[in-house]
Amino acid sequence: EITGDDDKDVNWEVIKGKTVAIIGYGSQGHAHALNLKESGLDVVVGLYNGSKSKAVAESKGLKVLPVGEATAAADIVMILIPDEKQADVYKNEIAPNLKSGAALAFAHGFNIHFQQIQPPADVDVFMVAPKGPGHLVRRTFVQGGGVPDVFAVHQDATGHAFELALAYARGIGGTRSGCIQTTFKEETETDLFGEQAVLCGGVCSLIKNGFETLVAAGYQPEIAYFECFHEMKLIVDLMYEGGMAKMRKSISNTAEYGDYVSGPRVVAEPSRKAMEQVLKEIQDGTFANKFLTDNRAAGWANFYAMRRINAEHQIEEVGSKLRGMMSWLKDGADLSKD
Ligand code: NAP
Ligand code: MG
Ligand code: MG
Repeated sequence: EITGDDDKDVNWEVIKGKTVAIIGYGSQGHAHALNLKESGLDVVVGLYNGSKSKAVAESKGLKVLPVGEATAAADIVMILIPDEKQADVYKNEIAPNLKSGAALAFAHGFNIHFQQIQPPADVDVFMVAPKGPGHLVRRTFVQGGGVPDVFAVHQDATGHAFELALAYARGIGGTRSGCIQTTFKEETETDLFGEQAVLCGGVCSLIKNGFETLVAAGYQPEIAYFECFHEMKLIVDLMYEGGMAKMRKSISNTAEYGDYVSGPRVVAEPSRKAMEQVLKEIQDGTFANKFLTDNRAAGWANFYAMRRINAEHQIEEVGSKLRGMMSWLKDGADLSKD
């Protein structure tokens, strides 16, 4: 069900005059803080002592306080630090300072759904999760639009949690394009599945395997990069604008025919079975446990090893060289910036 596809659906009165503490000033944090401030709310940013982000937030005219003090000053506390750090920061700094009747908010359901954070009964708990990277949440807002949000209420202590979540979504620009109501369980499981099986994991693995297949068959790595990596964005942009139909209208008949006969052979039953297994391990908590244990017990040992191995892959070396020759990538196309 789509709600709030127009700002008029939102009861702004429930949030007007409230103070919002944005905990963390990274990808999502900077976008929420600046968008809410420009929507007329009092925003305070919560960071730890010595945080690199402090000067960045202050340079934008934002007030920065230690997490505990920001929490104590706030009617809404939005937690936007990395998921694996949220439970400790919540326990040590947020919980002791959270006002009765305040709202605790998230942009991803992970810590509530997997019970890493168990809020007291006297606060609202909601989620507003933009379905896009933080820098686009900011850039789109500045341009007058908004990245769509999903929102959910886990706990409604005040009787206004639902309205408050929608008003928050309006404040960051989400209702300019549409908000879909979900649950913490649905958002957490589908978000993890999407990023693992399709968006990040699936796409990178598809590209890498295509590249390696061509290089192993003796083709030039630079050519393999163009065919299996560079053109991905051009194809995805067309699908994003007008569905697979628009993309298929734009490609040659040869490409479209090959799409139908070969695509389903490459990503086929074994991949589907693997997707089902990935989903099962998300649902039963196996993935969450592995992720948190690698962090807590192993100090990210596996994570950092995987990061290094992937960064050293030939496709990154070749890509970096080729992208250096594409002058337009240097100016204006940096998606990690607003
Ligand atoms: P992030 O960019 O990795 O957050 C980093 C920020 O948190 C930095 O400002 C960092 O400060 C600060 N920080 C780290 N430890 C802290 C602590 N102990 N106390 C206070 N501040 C601390 O996080 P993110 O990727 O935006 O993710 C935030 C949440 O949004 C997560 O729940 C994530 O799942 C969700 N989400 C993210 C995206 C996305 O686009 N990334 C999209 C949808 C949902 P320093 O840099 O100074 O250390
Ligand atoms: Mg996501
Ligand atoms: Mg995610």
